[in-house]
Amino acid sequence: MSNVVYWFRNDLRLHDNEALVRATNLGNVTPVYVIDNRSFAQTSIGHKRTGKFRAKFLLETIADLKQNLQKIGSDLVIRIGHPEEIIAEIAHQINASHVVLSKEATQEETSVEAELSQLLKQHNIDIELIWTNTLYHPRDLPFQMHFLPDVFSTFRKKVESRSEVRATFPTVENLGKMASVESKTIPTLAEIGFESFEVDERAVLDFKGGETAGLQRLHYYLWESDLLKTYKETRNGLVGVDYSSKFSAWLSLGCLSPRHIYEEIKRYESERTANQSTYWLIFELIWRDFYHFIALKYGVRLFKRSGIKHDMVKEWNQDQRGFNKWVNGETGVPFIDANMREFKETGFMSNRGRQNVASFLTKDLGIEWWWGAMYFESLLVDYDVCSNWGNWNYVSGIGNDPREDRYFNITKQATNYDPEAEYMKLWLPELKDVPADKINEVGLLSQAEQKQYGVQIGVDYPNPYVDVKKWRKSAKW
Ligand SMILES: Cc1cc2nc3c(=O)[nH]c(=O)nc-3n(C[C@H](O)[C@H](O)[C@H](O)COP(=O)(O)OP(=O)(O)OC[C@H]3O[C@@H](n4cnc5c(N)ncnc54)[C@H](O)[C@@H]3O)c2cc1C
Repeated sequence: MSNVVYWFRNDLRLHDNEALVRATNLGNVTPVYVIDNRSFAQTSIGHKRTGKFRAKFLLETIADLKQNLQKIGSDLVIRIGHPEEIIAEIAHQINASHVVLSKEATQEETSVEAELSQLLKQHNIDIELIWTNTLYHPRDLPFQMHFLPDVFSTFRKKVESRSEVRATFPTVENLGKMASVESKTIPTLAEIGFESFEVDERAVLDFKGGETAGLQRLHYYLWESDLLKTYKETRNGLVGVDYSSKFSAWLSLGCLSPRHIYEEIKRYESERTANQSTYWLIFELIWRDFYHFIALKYGVRLFKRSGIKHDMVKEWNQDQRGFNKWVNGETGVPFIDANMREFKETGFMSNRGRQNVASFLTKDLGIEWWWGAMYFESLLVDYDVCSNWGNWNYVSGIGNDPREDRYFNITKQATNYDPEAEYMKLWLPELKDVPADKINEVGLLSQAEQKQYGVQIGVDYPNPYVDVKKWRKSAKW
């Protein structure tokens, strides 16, 4: 039987993994994961491309995958370096007939695929790239990628009426005899350049990487807690672990398969209850698909300053001071600061928070949108290249939002989604005694009020970096 190298990428699971199943059909599989040291490089805005939260989650995920592979009589070869070179070298060394991997959508990832393909050609080794990452398979879309609708609801209606979600693949239980290849031990956080850290006790969840923890979270959210049946009502929450599924971190590394989630939701609907909430989680997974397909359609434009709209007219400013205030949660706008501090301390932020802070950076401060996207890339525990850059395009107005003038009135958003200021006070304890009806305009408190509420604006909490009164007047929606 021939040797096959399986290169694990963002598909770090044994369940519903079509590419891995294909590898087992081709021969004895040698599973490899390469920690790509380029992904820890420093960016032009001064942050590592992969920050500490994501790094920790990744190392835990690799450890879990290795353990799960050992349980089925295999193992995971671990290396650090440039995957395209290392995979080609291993394939040549073990005289492999094939290298199999999951196909990615975006520029850097596909360039690596092309490079690997070139290197393998020199030794007559075949490469197979298999799509594993979305709910709908791109081949099942009722249009060619070039004609992908730019408006989400048009896309969704078309796929819902004319495409089927494919059935999942069985969990892999046998990979055959792996070849003997040198493997490194899983590095510690310190070995890849991070200090170890404690998870903030206010964090929504201590995200633990790996397929095992991902499947446990899925089981909890649907079957143990029944939270799915109220998802639509709770999904815009801000505090605690249960207001939304928190599947995103596991989806981002492929520890959870979206099709497996879909099948579980369908089973829940037939065994427990089907309502708007059960549908809405599928609806959100279709948003995720949409951004993956947008990435396929627009390629490198997703990352350009002019965005997928090719907007060469819009001006962005490079206000470094404003950007630093935004990053550090020191803008003097409590709803923004609470979200940015939660993010900085935990690597997670709710969807509502992400929309508001992105809108504030780009529409109120007018600062380079891609600085925000790069900061998110570094910090997000659930960073997904397509979802992150696609959402940033969308919120900044250079993407595929059909509403040109979408704008978040921060005071209105804070009042609607944090009416008692519970969330803001959790992350801004210096404002704990400010009444909820005054907190969004805390910068306008009189000296007497500041004394009464035990806060000195400009000393304990920053002066607002923008004119907050304008939100009173200019509530656009
Ligand atoms: C500026 C900005 C950047 C973002 N960056 C990312 C990112 O890097 N990675 C990421 O997974 N999500 C990103 N999102 C989308 C969304 O905020 C997160 O998916 C969500 O908050 C994760 O929490 P959850 O799993 O509890 O979500 P739930 O509300 O439980 O949703 C279930 C799943 O649906 C998908 N989903 C929900 N909303 C979106 C959306 N707007 N776009 C794409 N998928 C969605 C996610 O996979 C999510 O896990 C971003 C949103 C914004 C506005």
